[in-house]
Amino acid sequence: MGPLAWPPAPRPEAISAADWCDWTWQMRHRVRSAAELAAWRAPRADEHAAIDALAERFRFVITPYYASLMDPEDPACPIARQVVPQLGELEDPDGLPDPLDEVAHSPVKNLVRVYPDRVAFCVNNECALYCRYCLRKRMVGEPDWAMKKRELEQALGWIRATPAIRDVLLTGGDPLVFSDDKLAWLLGELRAIPHVEIVRLGTRLPVTLPFRVTDDLCRILAEHHPIWVNTHFNHPRELTAEAADACDRLLRAGCPVGNQSVLLRGINDDLPTMQALCEGLIRMRVRPYYCYQAQLLEGTAHFRVPIERGLELFESLRGRTSGFAIPVYVLDTPHGKVPLARSRLRGRDGDFVVVEAWNGALWRERNPLDAASDDAPAGRRTP
Ligand SMILES: *Cc1c(COP(=O)(O)O)cnc(C)c1O
Ligand code: SF4
Repeated sequence: MGPLAWPPAPRPEAISAADWCDWTWQMRHRVRSAAELAAWRAPRADEHAAIDALAERFRFVITPYYASLMDPEDPACPIARQVVPQLGELEDPDGLPDPLDEVAHSPVKNLVRVYPDRVAFCVNNECALYCRYCLRKRMVGEPDWAMKKRELEQALGWIRATPAIRDVLLTGGDPLVFSDDKLAWLLGELRAIPHVEIVRLGTRLPVTLPFRVTDDLCRILAEHHPIWVNTHFNHPRELTAEAADACDRLLRAGCPVGNQSVLLRGINDDLPTMQALCEGLIRMRVRPYYCYQAQLLEGTAHFRVPIERGLELFESLRGRTSGFAIPVYVLDTPHGKVPLARSRLRGRDGDFVVVEAWNGALWRERNPLDAASDDAPAGRRTP
């Protein structure tokens, strides 16, 4: 497994093992400034500038646990690059605040419906940390999006009144940032709706705050089955003993655990890294489910990979490793998720790739072949 999370000396302060493993301590002691970050990995000059420039637009927050996984010596650390602001975020003329048009697909606030039988329910606008490529930047950490109980009840009312919905995907933000009581209430409400057959939790906490997966939480989940969990590992360095333990607890509580990663330039877009991630996940009994093409989301041009290169990467995994270790490479669109396979590609039109969705709709995705400059320094290509 990867590095132990118990932070090596010098630590920023004397932290007891009991505090370190207490998820509420981690939440209360999150890194929120360049000075606090320096205790784990000194920000470079350009990162300092980005932290200042982005403070109002998409501020940064990191759990001490996740900060402890950073490599202080590596300027292109794949952990740091996911959570520390970069100047590249200011250079994205094509990026959109809501590329999937989720707001237009909301029958009531916080519910997104693109399929007849299932909905994504954004129950929370908070996360343990803020990923720089987050699709829901428009709401994550934004006080205006803090969901009131009344709003959750309205969305539950819509689900109750819509018998076609058999699958409810709790997302956010992160539903596991909720207290046990609030989560138990929400799961109880959903379970009381006869047509809701399964509940899914989309959570990154096994990766960013594995101590959240407590015995009490597992007991609550086990009382509301069938519950499926999808988490979000992007790099083999995130596969620590603590993360493996969190996944093991979820599995032993009866939740199948899958992984949804994002294909990120310079982080996991090379064969050795992606293969190590997928093989590490199945060693933890976590099934790779989807790997997302990075969306045309504001401030993320430096993360996007040309789709043809992504296709090549996933095609070269085939035969090279266990079949079920290979996730489906998908592009999310306002028409739903489109598996990126050659059979779905309807061609390239200059800067656009044309794909066909499940319902026959054609979607044009802006995806220049030379998306951002190839700035990943040599040596970043191995895990
Ligand atoms: C991803 C997603 C789903 C679930 O899709 P699956 O392919 O079933 O995993 C459902 N609704 C919305 C809005 C989604 O974005
Ligand atoms: S954990 Fe998910 S919802 Fe939260 S900031 Fe990261 S990508 Fe966004």
